[in-house]
Amino acid sequence: MKYLEFAESCERISAISKRLEIRSLLSDLIRPLVPEDVPPVLYMLQGLLRPEYEGVELGAGDALVLKALAVATGLGEDSLKDRVRARGDMGEVASEVLSEQRVRYQSEGLAVTEVYAALLDIARTGGEGSQESKVGGIARMLSRTSPVEAKHLVRFLLGKLRLGVKEMTILDALAEVYGGSDPKKARVEIEEAFNVSPDLGEIGTLLAQGGLNALSAVSLRWGRPVRPMLAERERSLAGLFERMGKSLALEYKYDGLRVQAHVDASGNVRLFSRRLEDLSAQFPDVVASLPGAFENLPVIAEGECVPVDVETGELRPFQDISRRRGRKYDLERMTEEVPVRLFLFDLLLRGKDSLLGMPYPDRRKALEAVVRRGDRVELATRAIVSTVPDAEAFFQRALLDGCEGVMAKSLAPESRYKAGARGFLWIKYKREYTTELGDTIDAVIVGAYRGRGKRAQWYGAFLMALFDPDRGGFATLCKVGTGFDEASLARLTERLDRSAVPAKPSTVDTGFTPDLWVDPQIVLELRGAELSLSPVHSAASGLIREGYGLALRFPRFTGKFREDKGPEDATTVREAVEMYQGQVRKVESPAKP
Ligand code: AMP
Repeated sequence: MKYLEFAESCERISAISKRLEIRSLLSDLIRPLVPEDVPPVLYMLQGLLRPEYEGVELGAGDALVLKALAVATGLGEDSLKDRVRARGDMGEVASEVLSEQRVRYQSEGLAVTEVYAALLDIARTGGEGSQESKVGGIARMLSRTSPVEAKHLVRFLLGKLRLGVKEMTILDALAEVYGGSDPKKARVEIEEAFNVSPDLGEIGTLLAQGGLNALSAVSLRWGRPVRPMLAERERSLAGLFERMGKSLALEYKYDGLRVQAHVDASGNVRLFSRRLEDLSAQFPDVVASLPGAFENLPVIAEGECVPVDVETGELRPFQDISRRRGRKYDLERMTEEVPVRLFLFDLLLRGKDSLLGMPYPDRRKALEAVVRRGDRVELATRAIVSTVPDAEAFFQRALLDGCEGVMAKSLAPESRYKAGARGFLWIKYKREYTTELGDTIDAVIVGAYRGRGKRAQWYGAFLMALFDPDRGGFATLCKVGTGFDEASLARLTERLDRSAVPAKPSTVDTGFTPDLWVDPQIVLELRGAELSLSPVHSAASGLIREGYGLALRFPRFTGKFREDKGPEDATTVREAVEMYQGQVRKVESPAKP
């Protein structure tokens, strides 16, 4: 296909917005293509050179393209710049100046494949002198284009093609062109293949070469992400059983970043996000830990990457990990500041075998058999439950352990991995909670845990308690290891060593055993996400529910030592109960209009 035909299609498509009309224009464009033309056309329609997850970028900014346009037209950069400023679109300007220079473009037209190859070449040119050679490459193309070609080529180069052609509309068009007598059924099959291989160039080539049947060749491949399976939601635990039957699996629903990890036989690793972006460079710590985390390679596994407090082993809120997203610099410092752990919950490829068609219980078994659990890589906690009370208990445990809820997974034989699909084979059940407790809490240190890694010379985490005037003692609310700088840790370590006692003080009520017991004296100001019922912490035990105390979720030290407060001036368990109830009322009260 000539690039002119492609550019003219772009011109028509950019003038309309209705999906149906776009689809029919796309079908007309795709129908006459030979297989070699298919990938260039399908990628370039989306303003891409390769599937998005490969991250191929042209590296051609405004100045560079302007320079190339000046070279190709013989016009001055300044005058071109003025025209771009007035017009607001360099594509339009390119088209105009070429119309004015009518004699120039008599040469034989460019082929789509020729333009595509030249663009790929430009994208891959790097290092010294690369700017000049990019300008040269672009100028050579522009000097052979007609006005309409120049317009769309320039827009493409600047990443401003913006035709509004969605992947799903391209799939519609492919079904129309290659779907034979039943395009609707074909559309489903094409999307299924695309979910496993979200590379339109590959899917389109297969269709052009061998029709629908050729799609059976689509399989998992290292470095090419699968579109992730998604979950429906339920508002009650009983609802989970109505949907999934007598028994079901519950997994912790971790609140972090979904990661699809590809590890090949030589230990090369690629990490992809839920939106299929390549995350590998942002998480060098996870990349480094993965080759050793499996008994057999290659694998493709999925999990949730969650920030952890290495001192307490507890999970941290999602906001922490967002500090590591999209970063190019300071990676090493961030790896230390925001350590993460990957909780794996699915296995898609093991050796040469795709597990996508296997029911969930078998995939989970395979995952458990292949994962070597460690500091950085863990299995998602899960249980099989058959009653609502058991489900409730597991859900409470999940909240207590810092998760946002649970993910129910069907155990049925048809519970295969449905790439790219949202369905009731996975159902999420979360509790909504306020993200920040309005008030701070003053809690007393009753014990301390030795630091790890860089904090090994100090205590790194502390067992915190509230005062209970009725019992005349202290009951624990949380462990905290976040929010401390080195100076505070050094200061606390010195003071705690002085107030150390050989065994648990009789005034302290707790089921925990810290490395060091101390006389309750030091009061710290804490913040947290919310107060939640806890079967393990003893603060306010039995005051709200039999067998439960209160815990502070995601606690962190505000930096404030409450020197002004003695241990008996700390927040009392009664006050905590009031805070808890206020919070529950807030969650339950209907939203104001
Ligand atoms: P949501 O983002 O609220 O639609 O919930 C779905 C997301 O939960 C998934 O995309 C994962 O990132 C995350 N998730 C956390 N834990 C699990 C788990 N055990 N199984 C599946 N997804 C999980």
